[in-house]
Amino acid sequence: MDDYQVLEKKTELLCKGVYLNPDLVTYYQKQGINLGYGRKGGAGPLGGRYFLFKDQTLVNVALWDSNEHTNLSLGVKKGEFFQVLDRHQNNVFAELILVNNPRFYDRKTSDGIEMKKIALVHGVDCLATTIYQKCAYWTCGEACKFCGIQLSLENGATIEEKTPEQLSEVMAAAIKENRCSHATLTSGTTAEKGKGALRYVQILKKLKKDHPTIPLHVQIEPLKDLEYINELKSAGADTIGIHIEIFNENLRKRFTPGKAHVPRDQFERNWTHALDIFGKNQVETFILAGLEDFNADFILNLEHVISLGIIPFITPVRPIPSKKPIVPPLNYERLLKLYELAGTLMKNHGVNPLEFKAGCVRCGGCSAIKEAYRAVS
Ligand code: SF4
Repeated sequence: MDDYQVLEKKTELLCKGVYLNPDLVTYYQKQGINLGYGRKGGAGPLGGRYFLFKDQTLVNVALWDSNEHTNLSLGVKKGEFFQVLDRHQNNVFAELILVNNPRFYDRKTSDGIEMKKIALVHGVDCLATTIYQKCAYWTCGEACKFCGIQLSLENGATIEEKTPEQLSEVMAAAIKENRCSHATLTSGTTAEKGKGALRYVQILKKLKKDHPTIPLHVQIEPLKDLEYINELKSAGADTIGIHIEIFNENLRKRFTPGKAHVPRDQFERNWTHALDIFGKNQVETFILAGLEDFNADFILNLEHVISLGIIPFITPVRPIPSKKPIVPPLNYERLLKLYELAGTLMKNHGVNPLEFKAGCVRCGGCSAIKEAYRAVS
């Protein structure tokens, strides 16, 4: 497959996901292959597993237990490849390698916590953790409509707050298995000073001291006092995400009622300051595709963000497992067009997602923004 074909296939998989027949789960379990439907709660896109194309391109594929969502089905495993079948075209859509869970998921930390409750491996080698699993917006009824951060706490899959020592121990275990070459740290927003940004500082210092070669990514909400961004950098963060998710102000109020209190110009001040502190191509913002039309205003906003030097991490919004979808499924051809445009705009403005040192953009599991950049060369 050439770069454009990879972009096309990955975009379709990100939008549609794949039907996984429950009988197949049992069948493979008997062969020791833990297939499962993925995370049911937590930060970031849920309910999926990581797969690799033959060229090692990573994709986070939603796995559905009913085939109403998608015409793609997971088929038999031939050698190391799972076949993805297209029921409409009646052919093999792609052949993918399942990324297995790391062995440390069966181990505990020295204070007796299951390591998989402290951090998980996203993709092949990105250690990801939610350092604080609660969010002030959930408490006041203004949670983002697509967010599942507290669900994994409610279903016992994680703990509320991770300590620097626990995270360093789990990172050591992941590094030993070659399953950690960078890390994503995220957190719920808190009512404290700095909205929880300071909770990162001790963790960053500990991880940087114990594992100096592992680049670290943090995600925050825009802050009035930009000094916090400097503190995160000096504590050891290498890249940062400040996520706007939606451009349209009315839709921000609808889908992210709490975060919509943060004015747009505060995002811009944080983005430009973060670029000064972290450097070129080290600042990203999540754009959740499917919540708003890709109309002229959207495109203007997208180009503006890219012109500031920010990487637009465009990822299709994904329903939370066991919850009613908040919007209809996104047509993948529309998203493909958007990726092509974003790739061209990044080229025109000298923004290069391939240079992002740590975190979501480097991992790339949930977005085809890097493939778009490569495909428009
Ligand atoms: S891009 Fe990678 S690190 Fe980020 S949420 Fe997706 S899988 Fe996790």
